[in-house]
Amino acid sequence: MDYLPFVLVEGKINSMKAEIIAVGTELLLGDILNTNAQFLSKQLAMLGIEVYHQTVIGDNGERLLEAFDEAFKRCDVVITSGGLGPTKDDITKEMASKYFGKELTLNEEELKNIEQYFNKTGKKMTENNRKQAYFPKNDIILKNNNGTAPGAIMKGENGGIIIVLPGPPKELIPMFKESVVPYLKNTTDSTLYSKIIRLFGIGESTMEDEIKDILESQTNPTVAPYAKESDLILRITSKAKDEKEAKKLIEPLEKQITQRLAKYIYGTNEDTLESVVGEKLIKENLTIASAESCTGGMLSSKLVNVPSISKVFIEGAVTYSNQSKMGRLSVKKETLEKYGAVSKETAIEMAEGIAKSARTDIGISTTGIAGPEGGTSEKPVGLVYIGLYIKGNTLVKELNIKGSRERVRTRATMEALNFLRLELNKIQVAK
Ligand code: ATP
Ligand code: MG
Repeated sequence: MDYLPFVLVEGKINSMKAEIIAVGTELLLGDILNTNAQFLSKQLAMLGIEVYHQTVIGDNGERLLEAFDEAFKRCDVVITSGGLGPTKDDITKEMASKYFGKELTLNEEELKNIEQYFNKTGKKMTENNRKQAYFPKNDIILKNNNGTAPGAIMKGENGGIIIVLPGPPKELIPMFKESVVPYLKNTTDSTLYSKIIRLFGIGESTMEDEIKDILESQTNPTVAPYAKESDLILRITSKAKDEKEAKKLIEPLEKQITQRLAKYIYGTNEDTLESVVGEKLIKENLTIASAESCTGGMLSSKLVNVPSISKVFIEGAVTYSNQSKMGRLSVKKETLEKYGAVSKETAIEMAEGIAKSARTDIGISTTGIAGPEGGTSEKPVGLVYIGLYIKGNTLVKELNIKGSRERVRTRATMEALNFLRLELNKIQVAK
């Protein structure tokens, strides 16, 4: 799941700094959107490489040289996009080599590759295309499997690195993934290692308050909180000479945090609420069915995200109308008349009704006012009930969710999963 820009999972990451320079007058004129910078930034973040600056420069040699100069005051690696084409205004590679004081010479092998590309695609090669086969002698050439312009990794005497990549995203993206990622992964002297702790049901400021002393006192490992919608994460990152050492540094701190925030923590790294719940259901062999009103299938859709859930997920019904609640779930007419569709009583009968008819161990229901219209002072928009029938007992949870229709529905779905998660934990404890 794409939670946050950095989505760092457990693993080795670099500690270098990088900058991105997108080259192209089209970008400056607003004719095209700089999606390459977005892609590169995301990828670099995933590798744990910090990016503090992005630059856009027109097809102008002087200004590009200046941009290199500025960038290397701040970082170790500059990645460029664009300007590798055959025409005169494509100057990135030329300027990068000029910046490092390198000479470009014809690389016969690359020339052959380019010729082959033209043969294969049936396009006509022009004399200009020869320019794309010129590279500094001892640098790394990056193969372009989707176009003519190869990229390059150039190393300067000062230790700086310029990685030049072609502009078209369909060339840049595969080249980055195939060649640059492995290169960057190997170009580091120390290892950063990250572990993510995932929490639900606690606000960011409350969490920060609870572990304030830990957050403030750490330098290695560091702990950083991030929030998105209803999900909260803590990223613990340590730096050491190798992965084993880095892992060892994280352990005591992780333990300390886990002890303090235990009731909110549902998982680590790539866990999601549904994966944790789903895996538990499968492990305990507990069958489940859902009856959804305001979430309209979101809950069952989340459960279906979990591989092998078919072993335990029997049915998901979207019972939106009173008619359906009565017909499909045997919710009593009197209940609906007396308490309304959005009520504790209805949520309970829905959960029991679906469990009974689907013959499952667990029945879970949602009913609420998603808005923006339809709220009253007694039952405002955002009022949601979650019913949970679980092995003979029925529980109900009332929520008051603020925000748009989308947010009410999403949050209600997450809350339902978390409600189930906490009850499943109790079953295990009781065993
Ligand atoms: P070509 O061989 O096609 O000339 P190039 O490496 O010289 O490739 P540019 O001429 O700078 O690249 O750009 C070619 C095309 O690639 C642009 O017209 C645009 O469609 C796309 N492109 C370039 N830069 C970017 C960018 N930063 N983000 C998204 N798309 C881009
Ligand atoms: Mg071009």
